[in-house]
Amino acid sequence: MKVDYQKIISKVYTDIIAKENFGKVPNYIPELACIHENKFGINFTDLKHNSFGIGDFEEKFSIQSISKVFALSYVYEKLGEKLWSRVDVEPSGNAFNSLVQLEADHGIPRNPFINAGALVICDILLEICNDPKQELLQFIRDLTADHQIFFNEIVAASEMQNSFRNAAMCNYMKSFGNIKNKPDAVIELYCHLCAIEMTCKQLSRSFLYLANEGKIPSKNDQILSFSKAKRINAILLTCGFYDESGEFSFLVGLPGKSGVGGGIVAIYPQHYCITVWSPKLNEKGNSYRGMKFLEEFTTQTGENIF
Ligand code: GLU
Repeated sequence: MKVDYQKIISKVYTDIIAKENFGKVPNYIPELACIHENKFGINFTDLKHNSFGIGDFEEKFSIQSISKVFALSYVYEKLGEKLWSRVDVEPSGNAFNSLVQLEADHGIPRNPFINAGALVICDILLEICNDPKQELLQFIRDLTADHQIFFNEIVAASEMQNSFRNAAMCNYMKSFGNIKNKPDAVIELYCHLCAIEMTCKQLSRSFLYLANEGKIPSKNDQILSFSKAKRINAILLTCGFYDESGEFSFLVGLPGKSGVGGGIVAIYPQHYCITVWSPKLNEKGNSYRGMKFLEEFTTQTGENIF
């Protein structure tokens, strides 16, 4: 039987508004605390570009850690498997900004989606690109087929002024030789990547290459090899939600990535991407309503990777 996505999304959206309004907007990045906490948007886009949105799905928000997926894809395609000598692919079971495992792991972050891993990816971007910020932005614009994607310099500055933990991680990894550039330059790039703004609609479209075996569906451009796309989906499934990755996989059953701006993108390989934005976060730093919405969405569609 054909699934009526539009009907399910509208119904779950209305139900969640009526009963789920817990969580807190993060205040450790002061600019993020200024966002209206009741914003709530959803976009669904499939490989044929059928697209449906509801609520604030065309409003830009800070994608934060979701950008780690773009940075990883870009670096992985260029470096190949030798990338994994500098960052591992294991769930951390710890908070996204935790330092505790770095000592035992000799400065090798557990995975590319915690802050320590993304800092190493930024360090590699500084090594291999002439202008990493612009190259990455262009990569995301090409994936989205939309040039209206920018850094929010105010959010980047706000984050740089409060980057004490990220600076500590970066310096610590440098002491093990796993950061090659000046820590300040790595942090500056990292804070810019986190400060990219996109809408739910842009995010769903930009992630379609991961639902389509590494190819942009409209152009058939191979962004990542089939095997690399599979591997990134695997890391998303096991590490995309900090120390709540097991829970997301358990409740939702799709690979995905969250960010502290309240966004979540989930991928149903061979079919579609769905993005939710709601800024109030649960205790683990994932969007409270976003998690609830996707759990109910996959329950009602019956669609998941298992
Ligand atoms: N910019 C945030 C930080 O470094 C990103 C965290 C996130 O979205 O997971 O703390």
